[in-house]
Amino acid sequence: MDTGSLHQLQKNAISAFMEYGQRIGRQPTLECRERRSRLFSGNQTFVAVARLEDEVICEAEAPNKKDAKTKAADKALRQMEASPGPSQGTGGEPEMRLAVPGKDPVSALMEYAQAQGLTATIVVEGQTGPAHCPTFIMYAKLGDRKFESIEHANKKEGRKRAANTALLKLQREGKIPRPRSGFCQRGSQNDSGSDDYKDICPPRKNPLQVFNELAQARGVTCDVIETADRRGQPHDLTFTMAAVLNDIEFESVTGKNKNQTKNRATAAALRQLLETGDYELPSAQRGAERIPQVIRSWDDRIATETLQKFRSVVSDVEADLSGRKVLAAILLYDKKTDTLSVVSLGTGNRCITGNYLCVEGSVIHDSHAEIIAARGFRRYLYEEVRRSESSGGSEVLGHTSGRLRLFRHLSFHLYISTAPCGDGAVYTRADPSNEDNVHLPVYRTQQHGLLRTKVENGEGTIPVENASQTLDGIRRGDQRLRTMSCSDKICRWNVLGLQGALLSLRMDPIYLSSITLGMLFSAGHMSRAVCCRAARNPDLLSGLPTRYKVTHPELGCVSEGPQNRVTDRSSPRSVNWNSADGTVELTDGANGKTIRNAPSRLCKRSLFQCFSHINPDRARRTYRQTKDLATDYRNSRNLFEDAMETNGYGPWVRKPPEVDMFYL
Ligand SMILES: [Zn+2]
Ligand SMILES: [Zn+2]
Repeated sequence: MDTGSLHQLQKNAISAFMEYGQRIGRQPTLECRERRSRLFSGNQTFVAVARLEDEVICEAEAPNKKDAKTKAADKALRQMEASPGPSQGTGGEPEMRLAVPGKDPVSALMEYAQAQGLTATIVVEGQTGPAHCPTFIMYAKLGDRKFESIEHANKKEGRKRAANTALLKLQREGKIPRPRSGFCQRGSQNDSGSDDYKDICPPRKNPLQVFNELAQARGVTCDVIETADRRGQPHDLTFTMAAVLNDIEFESVTGKNKNQTKNRATAAALRQLLETGDYELPSAQRGAERIPQVIRSWDDRIATETLQKFRSVVSDVEADLSGRKVLAAILLYDKKTDTLSVVSLGTGNRCITGNYLCVEGSVIHDSHAEIIAARGFRRYLYEEVRRSESSGGSEVLGHTSGRLRLFRHLSFHLYISTAPCGDGAVYTRADPSNEDNVHLPVYRTQQHGLLRTKVENGEGTIPVENASQTLDGIRRGDQRLRTMSCSDKICRWNVLGLQGALLSLRMDPIYLSSITLGMLFSAGHMSRAVCCRAARNPDLLSGLPTRYKVTHPELGCVSEGPQNRVTDRSSPRSVNWNSADGTVELTDGANGKTIRNAPSRLCKRSLFQCFSHINPDRARRTYRQTKDLATDYRNSRNLFEDAMETNGYGPWVRKPPEVDMFYL
């Protein structure tokens, strides 16, 4: 078969299934998801699920999405032709799949309403068509809630259908139980062999535990019940069980002992919930990014090293890390030995809300992954400063005329799983861009280059309008707390270095040599956002103190095709790890503290403590006063911020001065 007719066949199975569903009045869907269980074997497959309304008809697996969908559609069509299904309803009228079998939908809805203390009505909204043959538009109403409208030529039949539509919706929401037959049998009832739950459970957890935790987290009841009599001899019994969550009974499975069967039953439920999007895999397994299978470039190498490190450090973390959207890491490259190693990594995409703003220095204001990775990196640098003063010395920093400097054969590199928020992420595909790794920034619209702030308690950024924010204004809630976007902060690192003000008292600026994105890379926009816009008018920064300069790091992207964008709702959790501490810390980006509500090792106060350990000067100064000792850094910062404003990008928004006025 040539590709043309194969294409025709593909189109036919999918469209035939969709048409069939429409014709019988049951919403057809073909959803595809990546099967993650084989993530580590490198075999990526996709599973497509064919549904009519919320009933799963069948599923099919293939190496790509399109084939999986085609197979599922084809299988579904065959299955339905073979079964006396709705397609063979009488008189061409699609048969209604009753939400509550054996019961009139209108009375079932009335009974439900009564039990809830609500009133249910069927409302005729209007009519269409010729007067002698009208079609009525009707919907069910429960209390104040309106359900989806349906159309029918017969008012009585229409009432039933409107009521049934409402019941099906309530069923999908878990408010009324589903009929047992609603779930397809998935043929997972093998009694022998080992059970593999890696696709649905975090390490060292079984499905029963995960299922119980899920129920607990949702505040609903759960159980595992025996749905059929035990079979076989007393010494060799077969159990049949099903998991029940909030009165919804899942598929029955069999097993040779109670515990095994319970785990199989809850596993079947979790897989079903995974398909319907009601359960999310722990992200360590799900992995927002794939480890490149073939290392074709420097960027692939950076990504591989980062993702492997991330997986190994979070494998011991019990907490649910689902909802991770952005991962960032800073890596050290040693040219002499050609070795690359992660020294700091972070995840997160939240900032605190104004009410958590703290004048003690004990909360992390900005928990975006890049910022978390940079703060962990400073802890790593403090450790290297300490080592440089010990007898063994540091392998990273050496003394040059009284200051510390990175050895020449070493360099630092940044990985981010996606474009940094702010200017680096606000382009559209229509914006032209040069994709080569040269710093040719694109300025196509007025928006390009603008400084932007993160939106409090949300995702996305907005251009800066005015720079002032006051402590009382934010605390009272009159002003929303604003934090500069990651693109803006990275741009500043490319002028002032990653080490920050305090460490600049001891060392030369530490610049990034490259930045790698996991996806959404556009060289023209990325170079503008992270460096070139600062140097748009080079005269403005010509007064930078010695050792400070605008650096243009190598920019690139992982070579493997477009990765799936992670679209799930994100969690405020943030993870940080650095090689100096060697442990994982979990924080809550929404309040800026650890999940045990203690100050994080990455907060200003903790880093100030690191500074005081390496600094013999015992004069009592606030954090701000100490930072102000770094005059070169401060002058560079002022020049940079002035240059950005002069370039027309807007003012740099600083936190209220009070947040830096604490003593240790
Ligand atoms: Zn960000
Ligand atoms: Zn540049």
